[in-house]
Amino acid sequence: MPFALGAAILLGACQNKPKETTTAGGDADKAFSEWKDNAFMDSLWAANPVWASAQGYHKYDAVLSIPDAIGRKKALAFADWTESKLKSYDYDQLSDVNKTDYKLLSNLVASSRFYENEFKEYEWNPASYNVGDAIDYVINNNPAPLDEKLKNISSRLAQVPAYYTAAKENISKPTQEHTKLAIMQSEGLLYFFTDVLPDSLKASHLSDADKASFQKNAEEAKKAITAYATWLKTEQKGFSKDNTRSFAIGKELYGKKFNYDIQCGISADQMYQKALDRKAVLHSDMYALTTQLWPKYLKDKPMPKDTLVAIRAMIDKLSEKHCKRDSFMATIEHQMPELVAFINEKKLITLDPTKPLKVRKTPEYMAGVAGASINSPGPYDKDGNTYYNVTPLTNYTPEKAESYLREYNDYVLQILNIHEAIPGHYVQLIYSNRNPSMIKTIFGNGAMIEGWACYVERMMIEAGYHQSPEMQLFYDKWNLREVCNFLLDYNIQANGWSKEQVMDLLVKQGFQQSAEAEEKYKRATLSQVQLASYFSGQTEIFELRDEMKKKLGDKFDLKAFHEQFLSYGSAPVKEIRTLMVK
Ligand code: ZN
Ligand code: ZN
Repeated sequence: MPFALGAAILLGACQNKPKETTTAGGDADKAFSEWKDNAFMDSLWAANPVWASAQGYHKYDAVLSIPDAIGRKKALAFADWTESKLKSYDYDQLSDVNKTDYKLLSNLVASSRFYENEFKEYEWNPASYNVGDAIDYVINNNPAPLDEKLKNISSRLAQVPAYYTAAKENISKPTQEHTKLAIMQSEGLLYFFTDVLPDSLKASHLSDADKASFQKNAEEAKKAITAYATWLKTEQKGFSKDNTRSFAIGKELYGKKFNYDIQCGISADQMYQKALDRKAVLHSDMYALTTQLWPKYLKDKPMPKDTLVAIRAMIDKLSEKHCKRDSFMATIEHQMPELVAFINEKKLITLDPTKPLKVRKTPEYMAGVAGASINSPGPYDKDGNTYYNVTPLTNYTPEKAESYLREYNDYVLQILNIHEAIPGHYVQLIYSNRNPSMIKTIFGNGAMIEGWACYVERMMIEAGYHQSPEMQLFYDKWNLREVCNFLLDYNIQANGWSKEQVMDLLVKQGFQQSAEAEEKYKRATLSQVQLASYFSGQTEIFELRDEMKKKLGDKFDLKAFHEQFLSYGSAPVKEIRTLMVK
């Protein structure tokens, strides 16, 4: 199958501009590939040494950049250099994979300038200063010998006091929410100095001189971190009204951040309107289903007049259908072959039988990550396995387990597996790995990735997977959560919504549990736009599918659409659209 797919892409590229350009894979295309994979990547990591360690690139493990004015100038200079390099390549002569990489890098240039010059998180987010990753990703660099790792960490620790001096100089008018988070996280860092590092040092074979210098650097670093937390607390910088700002970034910045992060064809305001429309459609559909199901499940009770209350009662009743806590993992495992068989039978997308998904218990070191999620190897660990990590409910109290199982009942668990595994994230990953692109592994478009996983949820049910009014009701509830993610993000960041308004949206109109809604609210005060990716991405994919149906008429084939769509890798949907609708 990979061969047929490759041929289809090449054909597409040739049809584009057959007379004027050389075919994809020509000299210009090769030169671009050579630059993006080598000079660009190395400059990127040189400019972002901690991020490099996190991605498994360890050449700069001894370096810690100081986040001061000079550091910011360097980041802008990197954007300028990237832009000038991009200008030296002819976009029209690139292959489709390189065209989308080119667009991702152009967006990187523009968004770096936006983040440095306008967004200026370094002024108001004290939690953006954290040296945890700088230490953690070196210590956990498995291939390197311990002594070498400790020398690198020692060199980074020596930079820590200058790092926090710059942090204190940068911060003016922080938000209370990020200040609280920064205090908590900085205090959490101290565990490296009391537990992790002393044990490693003891186990090492460093010379006495190296050990002494490590200890001195660690002592100074620890002092600087403690002083930073104390400064945030005692200066009360984060807590008096005059010295703080709201976590809400406002309409203008939200609109711009949306454009750079989501990279979609329409504005945040336009997408917001679509989300409101979708919420209305879902509510009316859910009410119709509730009316239909009432006599079957709740005929002894009068149906409440309030439509939202009635829907909630039906959801509560149907949530009783769930697996037992000790069969949670086995249930998920059994659903994998069922999904594969259905997809093959309905010819929805070609699956690769040589790459079955391995379901496993979430490893201890990753514990705390709830539920089930796909864990794929980093970009520099090509041979690593991809797993479907499932956290067994063994450590849950009976109440917590019951509440979790009701949430992931027999209906929702199916949707979760479609989203995370097959044909969601896992299948998308396999397709994107066929045209490996480091650029897309690092800067892949989140709205496309989440959009695909959300798109296939509805696509599978449309195709008949476990179709029933009950399943449809829970799909609607699940989809409503994706819609609400966007509505609450937009409203609290750009429309000044209060916590009460958010809780009303999520609990009353979205049928969520209050605990889940509280968590979501907290997350939405600390980040912006990410929560918009689920709805934005799927909306764009459904619209693209409609457009292709119109264009191809009888010739439209769902399987071909899916395979072509995924063949470009994790590129923004609008860029994929340009290549598909030509
Ligand atoms: Zn139960
Ligand atoms: Zn997802």
